[in-house]
Amino acid sequence: MRRVTILGATGSIGASSLDVIARHPDRFAVFALTAQNKADALADLAARFRPQVAVIANRAMLPVLRDALRARGLATQARGGAEALAEVAADAGCDTVIAAIVGAAGLLPTIAAARAGKRVLLANKEALVCAGALLLDAVRRGGAELLPLDSEHSALHQCLAGARGGARDVRRLILTASGGPFRTRADLADVTPDEACAHPNWVMGRKISVDSATLMNQGLEVIEANWLFDIGPDRIEVVVHPQSVVHSMVEFADASVIAQCGTPDMRTPIAYALAYPDRITSGSTALNFQSLGALTFEAPDRARFPCLGLAYAALRAGGGAPAVLNAANETAVEAFLAQRLPFTRIAGVIEETLARVDRGAPAGMDDVLALDREGRRVAREVVERRAVVTGA
Ligand code: NAD
Ligand code: MG
Repeated sequence: MRRVTILGATGSIGASSLDVIARHPDRFAVFALTAQNKADALADLAARFRPQVAVIANRAMLPVLRDALRARGLATQARGGAEALAEVAADAGCDTVIAAIVGAAGLLPTIAAARAGKRVLLANKEALVCAGALLLDAVRRGGAELLPLDSEHSALHQCLAGARGGARDVRRLILTASGGPFRTRADLADVTPDEACAHPNWVMGRKISVDSATLMNQGLEVIEANWLFDIGPDRIEVVVHPQSVVHSMVEFADASVIAQCGTPDMRTPIAYALAYPDRITSGSTALNFQSLGALTFEAPDRARFPCLGLAYAALRAGGGAPAVLNAANETAVEAFLAQRLPFTRIAGVIEETLARVDRGAPAGMDDVLALDREGRRVAREVVERRAVVTGA
């Protein structure tokens, strides 16, 4: 029986994870669930899954969470604040932690889970982008196990399952990207947040939806793959595959390519990682090859979607560049979602922030957090100036 903590239980990945867990009460029990602000939604989940602890990251909401748990007649312990996230991630009451908080906010609890030797199921790619070397070090020292939830990386993990020689036998990792909602749209100048969040194949949180529309998501995934599979940017390729059926591929030294396929449903990679190395039912529908039609592949349009190139450049630059890239991207996406920045300026904000922030290699978590703060501060400044200049 695995005892699971879900960081970010009220989000899209949280919901898919709980859906898989609910199908296997003989295998999984919930130890703790967390949310940022949604106390009522968290209490509803607590009523259904009966965790020992519920954490609301925004401490001001703790009284609301307490009342909501009491109103439902639950004995679930309520805790509040960011430290409580790290505490439940490291608690001896769980052995598995699903890291599904969005953004760098998920970094410290994810590191805490790794240090405590948990099986860490990573959806929170930003944590690995900001602090790849430090997170992997925490995994090694803590004796933890890191398994990807991101569909592309789950695919790569599955394709590599029989590769006993590791990276030596691999020629290329080929990450697929849907291309997002604007793959064929000519004019991106007046794109709205709702249009950017209307992803053709996946229903996801708003931040990752915008990242998918700019192709920054695939850029972050290249950095994520670099750390997870220890391979280097020159051997990681991105190909656009609008049907999202092939979730990624590995080409081996002998030119053989192995692909992992399935309907686009996050419950498949979640079930894979939860039960690994077993296979369990996920609730995803099966692929029907007879009605599937054509699977197509094309090169990403790096001129219209410059974020992909920015991410490759940050990975090549190394040091603190990926952390600054991530901070600037989170800030720019927030401003776009608040309609304070046009879609087409997101890449420019990131590029200028990278040029202005000193990106020395972080020696520890304090350095990563400082890079993150400075990246956000400079990016906000760039956003505000552009907002004035453009009158937006
Ligand atoms: P979401 O916005 O739907 O959910 C985010 C969750 O994190 C919520 O529970 C929210 O309460 C919590 N949260 C947000 N900010 C927080 C903070 N500052 N402190 C504590 N908790 C906070 O996002 P999502 O789509 O579920 O994505 C979560 C992560 O998974 C992201 O890193 C994303 O890139 C990754 N991911 C998502 C998908 C997907 O299909 N949704 C696929 C691959 C990877
Ligand atoms: Mg993905």
